[in-house]
Order: sequence, then structure tokens, then C-alpha cells
Amino acid sequence: MENTLHIIGGGLAGSEAAFQAAEAGVQVILHEMRPKVETFAHQGGDFAEMVCSNSFRSDDHEQNAVGLLHWEMREANGLIMRMAGEHRLPAGGALAVDREAFARGVSEVIRNHPNITIETGEITELPTDGNWIIATGPLTSGALGESIARETGAESLAFFDAIAPIVYFDSVNMDVAWMQSRYDKGETEEEQKAYLNCPMTKDQYEAFIDALLAADKTEFHEGETAKYFDGCLPIEVMADRGRETLRFGPMKPVGLTNEHDPENKAYAVVQLRRDNTLGTLYNIVGFQTKMKYGAQQDVFRMIPGLEDASFARLGGIHRNTFMNSPTLLDDQMRLKSRPNLRFAGQITGVEGYVESAAMGLLAGRLAAAEIQGKQLETPPLNSAMGALIHHITGGADAKTFQPMNVNFGLFQPVDGLKGGRRGRKDRYKAYTDRAKTAWKDWLAGA
Ligand SMILES: Cc1cc2nc3c(=O)[nH]c(=O)nc-3n(C[C@H](O)[C@H](O)[C@H](O)COP(=O)(O)OP(=O)(O)OC[C@H]3O[C@@H](n4cnc5c(N)ncnc54)[C@H](O)[C@@H]3O)c2cc1C
Repeated sequence: MENTLHIIGGGLAGSEAAFQAAEAGVQVILHEMRPKVETFAHQGGDFAEMVCSNSFRSDDHEQNAVGLLHWEMREANGLIMRMAGEHRLPAGGALAVDREAFARGVSEVIRNHPNITIETGEITELPTDGNWIIATGPLTSGALGESIARETGAESLAFFDAIAPIVYFDSVNMDVAWMQSRYDKGETEEEQKAYLNCPMTKDQYEAFIDALLAADKTEFHEGETAKYFDGCLPIEVMADRGRETLRFGPMKPVGLTNEHDPENKAYAVVQLRRDNTLGTLYNIVGFQTKMKYGAQQDVFRMIPGLEDASFARLGGIHRNTFMNSPTLLDDQMRLKSRPNLRFAGQITGVEGYVESAAMGLLAGRLAAAEIQGKQLETPPLNSAMGALIHHITGGADAKTFQPMNVNFGLFQPVDGLKGGRRGRKDRYKAYTDRAKTAWKDWLAGA
């Protein structure tokens, strides 16, 4: 029994984890509550159901970080990528699939695998002993969510994400923006210059408010309650409450002096805060939003200094159970307080089908190695897998931690390459070449 691996949740992460561990020769019991217990988003009883879009996003493994993650998963005999390939639909550079055939295909492999047993039913408590991977996703059932919160501390488990957009630092125009913390607060110079500030004149502010109010917004899904009103209002809702609300909220201009124009006081200031230790990503403070993605890019590029901004991720507010992984998990995805429990998938604070499946792949391999008494290192930082796991288990700022897609901002810079937009193509190719070598080396040693 001690050599059995239990996995809770047969979604994108749990299915991949089960397959990887079973292929390594470990006996797996996969616990899935559907179709006995349903979620508001899943429609059927198959494993690896794609609840919304049918796309695994870009398949470009030379110029795109998610395409690189596809590549790494394929190299590692990933089930999700193999089935995506078998059920692929024409979609230009994207990897889109026939979602029902895809989920049926994954389910068939899982159900017929000699090392996997399925147990249908909801797990309502965190298990006390044995080897477990918890991959219950953004819609983790209420009882289990409460049990996780009891173990981790309620403040370390979120039930909604309120994501502010994240911008690549090297796409910000620093002839307009400047670094300064409000009232120069902080002991060190680094702290006193912790924020990136973008100033607005009155006309720019008024035009920005008009655009916010007019922008296309997404509605909440049925079953997603609007609990976000507690303390993280979408900016467009704030703007709707009064044209000055933002100027007295996240866009207040006080305690700041524009180093490019010290004599003139800005009418409003948008602040961006560093989002990772590398300093390559900045989030726009307080700018969680329900605007549609296209509208967000148009509206946020109206902010002086962000006219040419590239976004590592756009904002959103969703029902989403996820934990504060930077404080709770070790670099092998184990709960520090109970190392027999691993977490994988969206609940760890990655975002998206591909990232969730990728973390399932890693958790399955790491758990199998541990059960078999082998030493398996965490993947290298230079691979996409390594960059992502490093971000969620330590690289991200724990205080502002929000779910993250894989993106090149999580990668360590390659020395000697040109920054900015012009150098982007060469830079991305260098990242992906370096990642492929690192990933192959890791797989060879695994
Ligand atoms: C409404 C919605 C729309 C989304 N749309 C997209 C999108 O378009 N594109 C994208 O890339 N990502 C999307 N996501 C984000 C996310 O990538 C997916 O939810 C993805 O499926 C996460 O994979 P996972 O394996 O972590 O969780 P899931 O795929 O949700 O799998 C978790 C599984 O655990 C089961 N489970 C939960 N609790 C228990 C329990 N206590 N006991 C037993 N089983 C349990 C669930 O039934 C489920 O099968 C969306 C999320 C939501 C909520």
C-alpha cells in the first residue's frame, strides 16, 4: 500500500500525473468525483475535460513559451500532448482539438492502463497517510477546500483570483515612466524605487475613464458568485461608481514626483509593482478587471509609458481555488507541513490547461521517483517546466501571488542579446534553444 500513489482529481493535471507515474511502474489509484458529484463547469464524466476553450494555445516551440511547454511535454511522453495531437483541428499556429474526442481518448488510456485503478467519489478530507497528489483544480469541491484551508491557514488558500495585468518591464517606455515608491518609503534605495509610475494629465485621465466605461466586459458564469466585491473591485466597476473614484484609489497621484517633469504634478498615476525576483515582470497595481482581452490591450495602452506594452498576462476575475504555493510548497511540489501530499495543476497557482497538465506531468514523475527510492532533481530553471515550477514554489512574490501562465518573463535573461522589441525574435529563439537542451539533459538523467 505504501508504494501506491493516490491522485485526487482526473482533470488535465491528475490524468497526466496518473499516466506518468503508471508508466514509471507505480500503482496508481485515481479518485475522481465526477459524474457522481458535478462542478458548475464540467459537462461529462470523462477525464481531462476542457471546460471552456478547445485550444492549447500556440504550438510554436521556437518563439512562444507555451509552445515550448508543448514541446517539453511531448519529449517526456506526455499523454495530454499525444492525445491533443491525435485529435487536432485546423487552427493556424494554435493547437486546438476536438474536445470530446480528446477527453474520450485520454479516458480510454487511463481506464485501460494496467497500473491505474479508478475510484469514483469525492474526497472530502486531506488524507493523513500514504502518497498523494492533489490535483482538484480551480473548482475543488467545498469540503476538500475547507480541509486544505484548515491545514494551510485560510489566508493561504484563495477561492477567487483577481488578476491585474502583467507587463514585460522591457516594453515600458522609461522616458515617460519612472521608478519611485510613494513618499519614497523604504529603508534601502531598492525599496524606495520599488514601483514603476506612469503619469496622466487631466485630459488623458478623462479619456481613459471613458474608454474603461465603454470597453467590452465578460459576464460571470452561472454558479460563479460575485464575491469579488469584498475588496478587489474591477477597475471598470470602480470607474462606474464615479469618475474620480480611481483617482482616489489605485490611481492617486500623491507622494510621487515625476523625475522627467518635477515641476508638474500628475493628475493621476498608474503604479506597477515588481512581480518576480528577476525583475522582468510588473503588475499594474489594483487593475483587476473583467474587460475582454482585446479591450484590455487597447485601454491599457492608453496609459502613458505603456503605449507599446507587451503583456505577459491580461487581467481577470474568476472562481478559482489556488494556494499560496511560494510559501506552502517545496521545490518538489510537496506541502512543506505534510510532505506526503503533493499538489499539481491549477490549484498550485499556474493558469491554463497546458500549465496545469505540465505540473501534473512533473508531480507524477517526482512522486513516482520518490516511491521508487530514486533521487529526481527539480527540472532546471532554464527549461519551461523549470521556470514555471520555480515561479510558483519560490520565484513569485508570495504577498501578491496570483495564478500565472508560462511566459518568457519567467526565464533568466540570456547574456549579450539585444533588449526591447527589436531583439525579441533572437531572444526568444535563444530561450527556447537553451530550454530544449536543459530539458533533454534533465530527462536523460531522470
Ligand atoms: C470556468 C473555467 C473556464 C476555464 N477556461 C479555460 C480555458 O479556456 N483555457 C485554459 O487554458 N484554461 C481554462 N481554465 C483554467 C484551467 O486551466 C482549467 O480549469 C484546467 O482544467 C485546470 O486543470 P486541473 O487539472 O488543475 O483541474 P481540472 O481540469 O478542473 O480537474 C480537477 C478535477 O478534480 C475533480 N475534483 C475536484 N474536487 C474533487 C474532490 N474533492 N474529490 C475528487 N475529485 C475532485 C474535478 O471533478 C475535476 O475533474 C478555466 C477554468 C475555469 C474554472
